[in-house]
Amino acid sequence: MALPSHVKYVVIGAGIHGLSTAWHLAENLRRRGLGGGQDVLVLDKTAIAAGASGIACGVIRNNYFQPAMRRLMAHSVSVWESDPASFSYHPVGYMQISPEVMHENVASIARQQKDIGYESVFIEGEADSMAYMKGLFDDWQAKGITSVLHEKRGGYANNTKSIYGLAKKAEDEGVRIATGIKVTGFDKDASGAVKTVITDRGRIDCDFVVVGVGPWVKQIWDMLELPAAIAIKGRDGKLHEGVPMWVYWSLQEGTLGVDPMLQRTNDGKMPPVIHVDTDATLFSDVDGSVVTDRLWGIYYKPDFNFGGVQGGAMPYRIKTPADEVAVDPYGPDSPDFIVGDDFAHMWCSALAFCQKRFEGKLPLYKKEPSGGIGSFTADNFPVFDRFCENAYVIADSNHGYKMIGVGKLVAEDICGQSSELLEPFRFSRFAEGKLHPSSNSPFPWS
Ligand SMILES: Cc1cc2nc3c(=O)[nH]c(=O)nc-3n(C[C@H](O)[C@H](O)[C@H](O)COP(=O)(O)OP(=O)(O)OC[C@H]3O[C@@H](n4cnc5c(N)ncnc54)[C@H](O)[C@@H]3O)c2cc1C
Repeated sequence: MALPSHVKYVVIGAGIHGLSTAWHLAENLRRRGLGGGQDVLVLDKTAIAAGASGIACGVIRNNYFQPAMRRLMAHSVSVWESDPASFSYHPVGYMQISPEVMHENVASIARQQKDIGYESVFIEGEADSMAYMKGLFDDWQAKGITSVLHEKRGGYANNTKSIYGLAKKAEDEGVRIATGIKVTGFDKDASGAVKTVITDRGRIDCDFVVVGVGPWVKQIWDMLELPAAIAIKGRDGKLHEGVPMWVYWSLQEGTLGVDPMLQRTNDGKMPPVIHVDTDATLFSDVDGSVVTDRLWGIYYKPDFNFGGVQGGAMPYRIKTPADEVAVDPYGPDSPDFIVGDDFAHMWCSALAFCQKRFEGKLPLYKKEPSGGIGSFTADNFPVFDRFCENAYVIADSNHGYKMIGVGKLVAEDICGQSSELLEPFRFSRFAEGKLHPSSNSPFPWS
């Protein structure tokens, strides 16, 4: 495709956010009689679904301790539900299975899900939790569990298929998607607004830029000359200066190469996505040694796309300063950030801890490169905001495959209809101390 010298809206990144925004923006402009897809150009340096969206486990849930996150997820789940076939969405539900240390946090999530009309069942107490889980899987055996939150909506979607589904919706609206084109800089006008997007294939003048580049956000952030370190007003009321804006975490995921049908429920149905956190000691399924005696967690689901039971465990924070982290080559191609034998051992032992059917299955773990890094903000929650007057940055802090609805809200915001769902994610929250509450989960994204 020959690049235009001018287009109204340039969207950088053909992942979940770039494509959802492009699709909704085109639709919005058309409905309002203000233009349409011909005004929107998506650029991607590699390909559609080449980033985190294309390797995501694909879990879609509401289970968040932060009220603002829950409201946003409920909105996103309704977008997933609007066209399950195009998005390759499997509405099997989601379960958060927790130890006593998380009981009160999860109880408050359950209460607030009721308030927003998000259907879930909440089971409390060790015996009732065990009985509920055995009602689903007769081989359930996880210890240290005192609550079960069973979300009836959500589930998972197949990563690349859903992104191609989004791309088709955008293209059906007339959006152009140009791949193999890397954004390398911006020219700004005297007021500081972006007037030109510079690429390795030429310059494109534009009225507005949307940035949806997932793990590469720091690179574009730097090109926009936004701050590498920020001040955060803490819960103590004091201003903490010099906090790095970006940090990377390495996600630990893999697949057990069993028949996905192995993980059916007692009544032969495909089960909800399972997420278990516990403080019970985890012993090796190979030799009985202690794997960990600290709070740990895993998630898993049968998945034909991955060819087995796929899932992950807690990510780890990459200590290297963000400037020095090699984002490329990304995902399974990275020499630095793929999971190793330790992950396989821990995760397979944890599967066996939860369900007897997984005992002795470590030899079936697929020894293929998996995992990938995510870019997290200073408080681990998303930033959705406008910078330099006309550059909208969608930085989901790695929460975001499930957030298919954010692009809809961003498109409305760009067209002048701001949503209160986005307000808690503005950049100003750091300086104002309007931080999201944090939970007792061992994951940075709960
Ligand atoms: C292993 C793993 C598992 C995950 N599992 C889940 C999950 O189960 N559920 C969930 O909700 N979230 C999950 N996430 C998080 C989720 O995948 C991301 O938050 C989300 O996909 C980010 O979407 P995005 O559109 O912002 O970016 P991406 O999908 O990463 O897309 C960004 C695109 O921008 C392009 N790009 C980058 N720089 C440039 C440039 N300079 N010029 C042009 N193009 C550029 C890239 O090529 C890429 O295609 C997971 C993440 C990982 C790594």
